[in-house]
Amino acid sequence: MPLNTGFYFDPIYLQHDTGSHPENAGRLKYLMNALAENTDLETLETMKCHKAEIREIERIHDLDYIRSVEEACNSGAAYLDTQDCVISPQTYEVALHATGTVLDAVNQVADNKLDNAFCAVRPPGHHAENDRAMGFCYFNNVAIAAEFLIKERGYERVLIFDFDVHHGNGTQHSFEGRSDVFYASIHQDPRTCYPGTGYANEKGVGGGSGYTLNCPMAPGSTDEDYLDVFSSRILPAFQNYLPDFVILSAGFDAHRDDPLAQQLLTLKGFDEILNGMKKLAHQHSKGRLVSVLEGGYDYQALSDCVLSHLKILHQNPID
Ligand SMILES: [Zn+2]
Repeated sequence: MPLNTGFYFDPIYLQHDTGSHPENAGRLKYLMNALAENTDLETLETMKCHKAEIREIERIHDLDYIRSVEEACNSGAAYLDTQDCVISPQTYEVALHATGTVLDAVNQVADNKLDNAFCAVRPPGHHAENDRAMGFCYFNNVAIAAEFLIKERGYERVLIFDFDVHHGNGTQHSFEGRSDVFYASIHQDPRTCYPGTGYANEKGVGGGSGYTLNCPMAPGSTDEDYLDVFSSRILPAFQNYLPDFVILSAGFDAHRDDPLAQQLLTLKGFDEILNGMKKLAHQHSKGRLVSVLEGGYDYQALSDCVLSHLKILHQNPID
């Protein structure tokens, strides 16, 4: 019996129109076409999208900032805060739906209605700071979901593992002073890659000291390099933390074909990382794992990696 894996997608995500920007609707259109042709995943449960309310977004973002996203979209502005954050009139509504979807996914997994879930959302979220948009991100989907699990569902040790090639500055800054959310990221060396944060000496502050883990990787790192750091540094830290819920910031832009970074990962490397995380979730958090799409800008690489990711999530570990 395969696990009950929720697959979250809604055509509304395509309405965040960024034109020829690398983070564009074509990413998900290509993925959905590939998924439709894949007979192995016919038993995946496709879940409906849900729109977040302002009070839910406010768990992480300032109300003034939330209003500024809405106003900028309504005014027809071309971008928000920085020129890499392209917006269209629908962006605000789409971003609310992306966050709402992730909230719904963690809720369904917390309620044991799903074993695990993947959210094929856009816009992504991990660069979004509490008061500004950054790096194609408007609302920090995973940070809002983690805060919801702590505040509303009584979880005490939520683990966020971010394997997007870029450091998730917004997520780190949301939780770096706390121990109830452990944020770990493996990413390309910040001296060579956006956003320029995520040095190894960023380990959390005050009561959160030791609950942020950054593993910067040299440009040109391979599957072997990543898996070595993953097994020797990242997994032992997670085993030690004993997470009661696991969230993945799943970016696939460390792939060797990705145009935005200089890493050499292949499908095998991404699959091994997910296998390790799934095993960890089964050991410590009753299998509770929600994976949320962040980056990944080569259509073929993204769709190959996501399809394989879905198969791994869906596979019963005891079959
Ligand atoms: Zn990225």
